[in-house]
Order: sequence, then C-alpha cells, then structure tokens
Amino acid sequence: MIQNSTKKMTDTPQNISNKTPASSQSENNGLEPKKIAIKPGFYLVSTPIGNLRDITFRALDVLSSVDLIICEDTRVTGKLMRAYGFKKKMQVYNDHATEGQRDKLIEAVQNNLSVAVMSDAGTPMVSDPGYKLIRLAIENDLYVTTIPGPNAVLPALQLSGMPTDKFSFLGFLPNKTMARQKALNEWDNTPGTLVMYETGPRLVDSLKDIKKVLGNRQVAVARELTKIYEETRRGTLKEMILHYENEGAPKGEIVLIVGQPVEEIISTDSIENQLKQALTTMSVRDAAELVAKATGKPKKTIYTLALKLGSAG
Ligand code: SAM
Repeated sequence: MIQNSTKKMTDTPQNISNKTPASSQSENNGLEPKKIAIKPGFYLVSTPIGNLRDITFRALDVLSSVDLIICEDTRVTGKLMRAYGFKKKMQVYNDHATEGQRDKLIEAVQNNLSVAVMSDAGTPMVSDPGYKLIRLAIENDLYVTTIPGPNAVLPALQLSGMPTDKFSFLGFLPNKTMARQKALNEWDNTPGTLVMYETGPRLVDSLKDIKKVLGNRQVAVARELTKIYEETRRGTLKEMILHYENEGAPKGEIVLIVGQPVEEIISTDSIENQLKQALTTMSVRDAAELVAKATGKPKKTIYTLALKLGSAG
C-alpha cells in the first residue's frame, strides 16, 4: 500500500545574523555565531538542503572567518551569505576545475590562507565537487577539516521506513537505460538498503529499471526534504510505477530508497511451473536465478528446487 506524509516547514530564515543576539553569553552558553581565529587549511562546510535554518553555529563561524569561499555557483552561495548577514570573497570551483586551478588553491593554503569549500546545497563532495582538490591537499600534508551538517542521504533513509543499520549509497544512476541496468546489476546481491539520488523526469524509467534488475522491492521516494512540500511516499516498486505513471513526474529534488525484495505469496505450483519452463532453455543455475528474481524468493531455495526438477527431467 502506498503511504504518503507531507508536512509544512518554513524555508525563510528568521532572525539569522552573525551579530551577537540580545541574550547574554551566560544565558546561551556562548552559542551565538562569532568570528573565530582560524588556521590555514581547507574547511568542508555543509549548508542547508532546503530549510535555511538547518545550519550549524560552527558553519556560520567558519564561513564568516575564512579568507576565501570556493563554491559551485557564486550566485547561490552569495544568496546564502546574504541570508545569514555576512559577505565573503568567493571563487567558483566545480567539476570543470583544471589542475592549474587546484594547484593555485593548494599554493594559497601553503601561503597561509584559509579556504571554505561549499557546494550549492548539503555536504560538499557527496555527488558534488571537491574530491580531487581534497585528495591533493591531503597529499600535500595540508590541514583539512569538516564542519558536518545537512545532506540528503541520511534524512531520506530515516524517513524511508527501511532498515537503517546497513545501507549503500549509489549516487546518481546513469541516464541511459542500458547503462543504468548494468550499474544496478552490480547491486543485485548487496545486503541492506540502497540509497540513490534521482530527478523527477527520470523517476519512472529508473523505477522500472530497478524492478527489472532487482525484482519487485519496497521503495520510498523522499522529495523536497526540509522544504515546504516535503513528502515521503512509500510502497512497492509496482505500486510506485503505477502511481507516477498516473500522476506524472513529481517536481523537486528526490532521493530514492530501495529495500529488500517484496515477499509475494506465490504458490509452490507456480514456482515449479516457472522453473520447469525456464529449464527448457536454461541451465539450472540461470533458471534458478531468473525465477528467484521474478518471485522474490531466496536464490538458495529456488536453486535446490531447480536441481531436483532438473534431475527429475
Ligand atoms: N551534496 C548534496 C548532499 O549532501 O545531499 C547533494 C548534491 S547532489 C548534486 C543533488 C541531489 O541531492 C538532488 O538531485 C537530489 O537527488 C538530492 N537532494 C538534494 N536536496 C534534496 C532535498 N531537499 N530533498 C530531496 N533530495 C535532495
């Protein structure tokens, strides 16, 4: 059954400023954002994924204290800084950055500059730029630290209703069907929950490919997290495909969470018939794999049955 939960939240920062609030230090334990002494290095700063109030005090301290902020888009980051009431020198750093740009940033830190690394939203380097730069900084023995905060993966996992003790993050699946199915194939036998980033226009095609490769499974579509129209829709792949085919592509940003195969009530007769059919053209191993996927039953059980049927025939 498909479930849906929507809640209203504000994405407007209220009273956000890096000025000292009216309350005294003893009343709030000195938690107001402040300029701090900062040593040269790279500071990986996480920023909100929607709701501007989701930012840590330390993120604001660091952003307002570093010498330079490198970011994907100075308009996006500029807007964020204005919302929090400070200005800072910015420079674009994205996936197209050259080796020369990286070398200059490394040199800047070697010359005692402090640099904050930001993405448009969430945690830098999680399906966002920064990996090559930070690897180079580590190789050069430079100071690198993180200011942890928002990202879209863990909140989506929390809301999915799927097991959270073991999960794999797949990033974005490839755009094209063949490449997507090939990529999904690698995760077929992975235990635990699968988490991936997705977009509205691709959603139904991706759901169909996931069902084709991984079988019918529980799935959750977490959309517009922390924003006004936050929504988490849960159901089986079959149900969700039907829903979005009827409703059309959803708007906004999406994280897809895929659980383990759905246990369907399938009679032993039906499994035996499917296996007999498959065994007319396939090896025992391939037939067992196909039927296990189609029925969502454990491969080992189906393989034992296939062996029995294979030797009987
Ligand atoms: N670095 C970011 C993070 O920490 O989550 C993610 C950057 S990645 C380029 C952007 C993708 O993250 C979106 O396409 C979407 O899949 C997911 N995403 C970001 N914000 C989201 C939100 N508020 N709700 C749901 N998904 C979101």
